[in-house]
Amino acid sequence: MSVFKHHEFDGHEQVVFCNDPESGLRAIIAIHNTNRGPALGGCRMWDYQSEDEALTDVLRLSKGMTYKSALAGLDLGGGKSVIIGDSRKHKNEQLLRAMGVFIDSLGGRYIGAEDVGIGVPDVEIMAKETSYVSGTRAGGAGDPSPATAYGVFVGIKAAVKHKLGRDDVCGIRVAVQGIGAVGYHLCQYLKKEGAELIVTDINAKAVDRAKAELAAKVVGLDEIYSADVDVFAPCALGAAINDETLPQLKASIVAGSANNQLAEPRHGLILAEKGILYAPDYVINAGGVIHISHEGAGYDHDAAVAHVGRIHETLLEIFALAKQDDTPTSEAADRIAESRFKKPGVDPSVAA
Ligand code: NAD
Repeated sequence: MSVFKHHEFDGHEQVVFCNDPESGLRAIIAIHNTNRGPALGGCRMWDYQSEDEALTDVLRLSKGMTYKSALAGLDLGGGKSVIIGDSRKHKNEQLLRAMGVFIDSLGGRYIGAEDVGIGVPDVEIMAKETSYVSGTRAGGAGDPSPATAYGVFVGIKAAVKHKLGRDDVCGIRVAVQGIGAVGYHLCQYLKKEGAELIVTDINAKAVDRAKAELAAKVVGLDEIYSADVDVFAPCALGAAINDETLPQLKASIVAGSANNQLAEPRHGLILAEKGILYAPDYVINAGGVIHISHEGAGYDHDAAVAHVGRIHETLLEIFALAKQDDTPTSEAADRIAESRFKKPGVDPSVAA
């Protein structure tokens, strides 16, 4: 397994492999870019089937954080970490503290936070070993998921405005794939404004809750793509938009919280060619990191929420730029982000 030549390497500044035999911790910390500030990004725990799968995931997610923070105008860089293992079986205090020690050893170049498989209580355990974590209750902001969901909600409204010429989502049909921490909150916002919900999840409990509390229509895992809806909101894992799913989509908008929704960059072009408006993932799901950036002394909840709300305007600008330049929204967003984090004349993705 080569790291420097890995297809997702993209000029990463630093990739750290962490091994702690006593706790069984095996993790990778990836720092993509720190030109704008320390690399902030969640820590994911997932039962990866191979080290290469874990490396691919962390590199893609870490790069996404650089673009996300740059586009949100934050003084932060991009990084991410993954712990290899099943969070339901292998997560314990010793392992989380060991992860905290490794994060601390980077001296603040990487700042960890929650992600899939790692919740606020887990980050609080890491915080016993390092101050370089965020999203703890003590810091002020806490769980970023509600803020992420709010950002996705205002982002869907921007997409609906641009594509369908509507200022509200009343009667708009939204298919939500994954009704976990973000997906569930998103459904609550949508329901409150009268949207129709179609949902799916691999977790039966989450499905039952959505049926009972949100009166959502439940469909099978594969049926969600072809649901007769206005908006498809991927809120589970990445690569929901791929060669198999694209031909099935009936939605005219793709807008959800999942990271790395496009299996490959070319899928952004295919969406545009099919007339489907795509809200670039790292723009619409920036609510959590924006909220966390307000953490610390003087935390002001209202100011943080207002800042997240600006995702609406940012997306409208990207949609307008993409239309003006006849380019996919994913490329328009990338261009703006790169102009903010790349040093002039330096392309870190080009190997020396
Ligand atoms: P979560 O683990 O709480 O929720 C994910 C849900 O998706 C779970 O209910 C899970 O059962 C379901 N799921 C998994 N595979 C599925 C499949 N194949 N089909 C249908 N459902 C499936 O995670 P979350 O915090 O809600 O995050 C959701 C997505 O949003 C992730 O991609 C995450 O990286 C991204 N994201 C989250 C945040 C945040 O603040 N939590 C911020 C930015 C991006």
